[in-house]
Amino acid sequence: MDTANNPLLSDDLIPDFAALSAEHVGPAVALLIEETRKDFESLEGSLEPTWDGLMVPLETVDDRLSRAWGAIGHMLGVRNSDKLREAHSACQADVVSLYTAMAQSRPVYDGMVALRDGDAWAGLDEGQRRVVDKAIRGAELAGVALDGADKERFTAIQLELAKLSTDFSNNVLDATKAWSMTLKEPAEVEGLPATALALAAAGARREGAEDATAEDGPWRISLDGPSVQSFLKHAKRRDLRKKLYLAYVQRASSGDTDNAPNIERILQLRQEKAALLRFDDYASLSTSRKMAGAVDRVQDLLEELLAASSEAGKREFDGLNAFAAEHPEFGAVDADGLKHWDVGFWSERLREDRYDVDAEALRPYFPLPRVLEGLFALAKRLFAVTIEAADGDAPTWHEDVRFFRIVDESGAQTAAFYLDPYSRPAEKRGGAWMDDCVGRSAAFETLRLPVAYLVCNGTPPVEDQPSLMTFREVETLFHEFGHGLQHMLTRVDDGHASGIRNIEWDAVELPSQFMENWCYDRPTFDAISGHWQTGEALPDEIFGKLNAARTFRAASGMLRQLTFGLTDIGIHHGFVPGGDRTVFDVQADVVARTSVLPMLAEDRFLCGFLHIFAGGYAAGYYSYKWAEVLSADAFAAFEEAGLDDESAVAEVGRRFRDTVLARGGAEHPLAVFKAFRGREPSTEALLRHCGLRAA
Ligand code: ZN
Repeated sequence: MDTANNPLLSDDLIPDFAALSAEHVGPAVALLIEETRKDFESLEGSLEPTWDGLMVPLETVDDRLSRAWGAIGHMLGVRNSDKLREAHSACQADVVSLYTAMAQSRPVYDGMVALRDGDAWAGLDEGQRRVVDKAIRGAELAGVALDGADKERFTAIQLELAKLSTDFSNNVLDATKAWSMTLKEPAEVEGLPATALALAAAGARREGAEDATAEDGPWRISLDGPSVQSFLKHAKRRDLRKKLYLAYVQRASSGDTDNAPNIERILQLRQEKAALLRFDDYASLSTSRKMAGAVDRVQDLLEELLAASSEAGKREFDGLNAFAAEHPEFGAVDADGLKHWDVGFWSERLREDRYDVDAEALRPYFPLPRVLEGLFALAKRLFAVTIEAADGDAPTWHEDVRFFRIVDESGAQTAAFYLDPYSRPAEKRGGAWMDDCVGRSAAFETLRLPVAYLVCNGTPPVEDQPSLMTFREVETLFHEFGHGLQHMLTRVDDGHASGIRNIEWDAVELPSQFMENWCYDRPTFDAISGHWQTGEALPDEIFGKLNAARTFRAASGMLRQLTFGLTDIGIHHGFVPGGDRTVFDVQADVVARTSVLPMLAEDRFLCGFLHIFAGGYAAGYYSYKWAEVLSADAFAAFEEAGLDDESAVAEVGRRFRDTVLARGGAEHPLAVFKAFRGREPSTEALLRHCGLRAA
């Protein structure tokens, strides 16, 4: 293969995506792995315990490989094909094993410890020290500092945990596939909306009922998320909801796919691993590298939120019971009130009764060009940056992809981003995300400016009609743009800590969730909406409903998240796997405190809790609430200054830019937050936004 014409090997910072194809992947990655391995080994032999002698080369040593691998990963998301997938998986193991070896390097670890303990330390700034400290801790948590039998045991635990996590998710997958109910009578699917019926008919066709149609069935209801959720929300047949609900909470809890033994083993091994690394338990290990820092901080927060929402949760439940009693036309309930399989259904009826806004009918009011115009105007108003179209300045992977540059007050370009706005089901992953394309760094010949990928899945334009968005899609765009701002408006020159890099993961959702709040700010709302043909504004009533819907059953939603968060902490802190109490006992105790309805004896929800047993959220589920506290409190700084006061909003906006957005991972997120807010975070704003505290 001709390396000269391989876009992944070119000197350009961003590869020529249009020229990039699957056959470039293998040869480029093989060559870059070899190059990186050689350079890394020579660094291990020659490193000096100084910033320039160790940390700078550590940043640059895999630069070519990481950019190429990042570009390949990006292409998998936006221009997927069988060939690309094959090429990627053919070299994935080699890339992973190189990175594992690098992360486990004892000479590099020893060098960093020598740097921390040596004379050069005094010459490092705070951000550099934090990078070194965190890297040392990361290496220690990866077992690098262990020796002899401990090291061997650690490695064995890691391998077994990796296997158990795969087994856990395979069991969930298999158990999900193994259960379904096929309904043939229209009365059995009464209440389901057209989209759910179409989904259920498609499910039936896949299982051999070739003639299944949305109108006439048969309809197959499965344990897949969308199928379960829509059935529990809409199906009038209570007995069938009960059957589905029970099957769902017992997923992967019996027979060949029983996850209960896996849970016990995983918790045992996590406890043993924590002990090897000198932590009391796994929750202490997990929180030690997060913004929270310690388990009691997490418990304090969750308890505070629980105390603030339990009474309101009871009131919401009573209100729902009353609503159900007043509306027998929707269906019957037991004399003693709603059961687990009723709550979703009646909540949805109540929501429709109070706030229903037809999400589809709003689309014409949110044409993408108008939304972008309003979003960019907001960025200018808050952060004094100008966003300009720069299509043609960078290579793209599809003709619909846009490129923009960000210019600061002095007129200098400081960053750029791609926007890939529309869905392309044949080749593009669903959902929306922001990713790091180029990170700001001064470690190379010229200062590298950050470039971000913003990827959404909106409806493509048709003829003269622009892409029309739902309000939810608009919120998602604001969310991803918030991540992008933190990546792009960084002023940190050290590539280890610029932008979103090196930020504790319970703090990364701060800027993204913060930006979502602006969708409900009236001037911003007006600036992003307007009928694409007539320019007509949305009626006040709609804005009012969208706003009011934010607090709908907010206490119940909060309590549900607290149930997960407290259970997750409970089984990773002070719990003895294999002892008298089971994880289900822990969950039942939590549920008794968080819910009006007690936990059902059959409930084995934990057997399907992928986040904490097969994802990265072990003793970290609380992060969702943690970050919400931060983002709500950050937005409250603007509310306090007065959202109607242009100059006050601008002043707070500049401060947000200069702290949260500018300092990246070079400072502890608590210090950054305090620099912005002048105090520690408070739950007050989140509770107020949820309607749980007086405004
Ligand atoms: Zn996010």
